[in-house]
Amino acid sequence: MKEKTIDLINLHFPEAPLIRGPLPGPRAQELLEAQQELESNVFKYSRTLPLVPQEARGATVKDIDGNIFIDFFAGIGVVNVGHSNPQVLAAAREQEERLIHSLDFPAPPRIALMEKLNRIAPGELRGKAKTMFGGPSGSDAVEGAVKLAKHYTGRHTLIAFSGSYHGQTSGALSLSSGRAFKQDYLPLLPDVHFAPYPYCYRCPFKQKPESCGLLCLNYLADLLHDPYSGITKPAAIIVEPIQGEGGVIVPPDDFLPELRRLADEEEIPLIVDEIQTGFGRTGRMFASEHSGVTPDIMTMAKSLGGIGYPLSAVLYHQRLDTVQPGGHMGTFRGHLVAMAAGAAAIDFMLENNLTEHAARLGELLLEGLRPLQEKIEYVGEVRGKGLFIAVELVKDKKTKEPYPELVKAVQRRCFERGLLVWSAGHYGNVLRIMPPLVITEELALKGLEIFQKTMRELAERA
Ligand code: PMP
Repeated sequence: MKEKTIDLINLHFPEAPLIRGPLPGPRAQELLEAQQELESNVFKYSRTLPLVPQEARGATVKDIDGNIFIDFFAGIGVVNVGHSNPQVLAAAREQEERLIHSLDFPAPPRIALMEKLNRIAPGELRGKAKTMFGGPSGSDAVEGAVKLAKHYTGRHTLIAFSGSYHGQTSGALSLSSGRAFKQDYLPLLPDVHFAPYPYCYRCPFKQKPESCGLLCLNYLADLLHDPYSGITKPAAIIVEPIQGEGGVIVPPDDFLPELRRLADEEEIPLIVDEIQTGFGRTGRMFASEHSGVTPDIMTMAKSLGGIGYPLSAVLYHQRLDTVQPGGHMGTFRGHLVAMAAGAAAIDFMLENNLTEHAARLGELLLEGLRPLQEKIEYVGEVRGKGLFIAVELVKDKKTKEPYPELVKAVQRRCFERGLLVWSAGHYGNVLRIMPPLVITEELALKGLEIFQKTMRELAERA
């Protein structure tokens, strides 16, 4: 690892963090006002943080007024190999000069990416995986995965989990749990059922993790076994191996293997959504590898396009490959620049042992964050795996009443100090830490220091 750390240092703006004056700066203010005037009311991120990014490198982002931030956010898990990673950018540029758009004709980057995916696929998928491209968003991969499972099984009931997020298109939204996202757009897909996810900090069965015996899965097993449960045999169970938008919820180690066992017993395809957890985020190439579970179907997006090129795909075992030609389509399923970037990003990750680096720096950050749980009365729980970390804030440790207002205040103050950190959670009360995996130890520790200082200061005032 040591020799490679040298390469990682040169990927970032060396001055980070650097804040030149009050935020937003004058040029940022102009663009924020233009956005307000021109863009649909739907935009959201800049309502939380008035950031106007202009240039970014590695784990650092420069705004339009020259302020430089440490990035604990990675565009929500998109730039795992770092913003504008030069090795990946070079591959993308080379491809851009040749051919950009190709539908699904077999151009070299398409084949190279599929070969690499087959080589890094988890467990028994390795060497036996088929890749399906469709539209460029994660939501589209979820749609494709569901269509495949329906086609393969001839069934249409679907099981998802409380706390889930799978996207915004109608099918993916049906499988997502957030009420606010969907309540104005009903009806969506019929016959979707939600099983409890083991969110142990807020156990739906009011148990302790040590003694609960995975009641969440017992509940699901009953739904599936009992002929009078009201549920017909599902086409698929879809699960995030660690829930992202739900609040970086890390289930107990035996959750995924037991779910796998249950799905096998009932002959239900298991879709593992690795859109946020994939490509090294949790310290393994895919999060399902932590427990040795092989998905039947796996969804990927975000970091699949390398450094932010839009690309999504479904990877599945070849035995499921019953779907007819044209069974899942999309004009942009042949974005060769994204494919070249994706293939180069996988190479970069493997050459630099980025998963190990993420695991080590994740431990370092967790070590620095865990004491906050003891010392600050509003820190309910610190949890995470690799560089996928949550700090859940509560008004009172006994009642666990969520404290989203404090999350917003911490985010804003960290921003003013040059650190980008995002939120998540059922109640918006979780600070989510997920830097590009190429972040150096030095930058990670600088970011940690800003975060700790801000937490302490704001908690005193709260
Ligand atoms: N699944 C998961 C686990 C996600 O985190 C997301 C996006 N946050 C999606 C699906 C949807 O991806 P997209 O926003 O690209 O449609």
